[in-house]
Amino acid sequence: MDIAKLSDKIVTGDRRALARAITLVESSRADHREQAAELIETLSRKTDAKAIRIGLSGTPGVGKSTFIESFGKMLTAKGLKVAVLAVDPSSARSGGSILGDKTRMELLSRDPNAFIRPSPSGSHLGGVARRSREAVALCEAAGFDVILIETVGVGQSETVVAEMSDLFVLLLAPAGGDELQGVKRGIMEIADIILVNKADGDLKPVAIRTCADYAGALRLLRKRAYDPQDFPKAMTVSALQQDGLEKAWGEMMALNDWRRENGHFDSRRAAQAQFWFEEEVKQALLAQLQTGTARDALARIGADVAEGRATPTKAAAQLLRELHGTPA
Ligand code: GDP
Repeated sequence: MDIAKLSDKIVTGDRRALARAITLVESSRADHREQAAELIETLSRKTDAKAIRIGLSGTPGVGKSTFIESFGKMLTAKGLKVAVLAVDPSSARSGGSILGDKTRMELLSRDPNAFIRPSPSGSHLGGVARRSREAVALCEAAGFDVILIETVGVGQSETVVAEMSDLFVLLLAPAGGDELQGVKRGIMEIADIILVNKADGDLKPVAIRTCADYAGALRLLRKRAYDPQDFPKAMTVSALQQDGLEKAWGEMMALNDWRRENGHFDSRRAAQAQFWFEEEVKQALLAQLQTGTARDALARIGADVAEGRATPTKAAAQLLRELHGTPA
């Protein structure tokens, strides 16, 4: 594959080239991995385009696809180009993706200013995460203005998505007060904006109460250095009736502008790049442990530990000495 040519086409906004490139970064074949790495590197030198990357999470049924459809259409109507990607670790187990399915966002998928890509089916979250991160980079190089990265609240997927997003939006359903405890504290801590969806019809009063509860809960969290006054915040929307979406977008832009003006946008991206670098190193080291001499040493010294001939701590130090020649 001619990587230089492919990267040229991506930068000019060629959709088929973009789709092909995403297929390339999703492949686990060694030669494809190498080409993908070269492509990403080439593109990063070519453009310094900066889309706004919005992570979006919520449990199944909360209205993510309805929201993305309405919100996406609203943005494309403003002349913005919108890409939708999904991070779905459950696809690793089920073989099918519950997110980013084109049929769920019918209008948006037909919109020439939108691009929707379902989650790759990967063996583990690490693999899905890397491919999604690279797909984000590809969409950014292709000139998209807004990249929505959708995930479902499974395991660590929200943390992973937050680490590749500039803003993290949590979509919640209207619910009784005791539901509030159901949202993990860690998720509240990474949310920039909580949207209580389905604020329409009979559900509207409940949605307003739920929103007030979450606003209260957000005020109790520790203030983050990269937030302006009154963020993170909670608001109500109706994805179905397209109500509150303009306001939500306005808040997202206000937060993003503030962070850009105050240097937090760039410093957060830099920290994210460093985070992913370290993740890659960890993954590579773990993979090394599963092959060749490392695997043999692990089995041999592990048996010593199991049979009481060595303590775990000493044995670990011995293993590292054998592998790297340095004491732990
Ligand atoms: P997802 O699983 O999070 O993608 O949720 P869906 O977008 O598929 O929505 C689940 C259900 O909630 C569907 O029946 C939607 O029509 C409904 N729904 C989504 N948004 C709204 C909304 O704003 N108001 C109401 N009343 N229903 C909604």
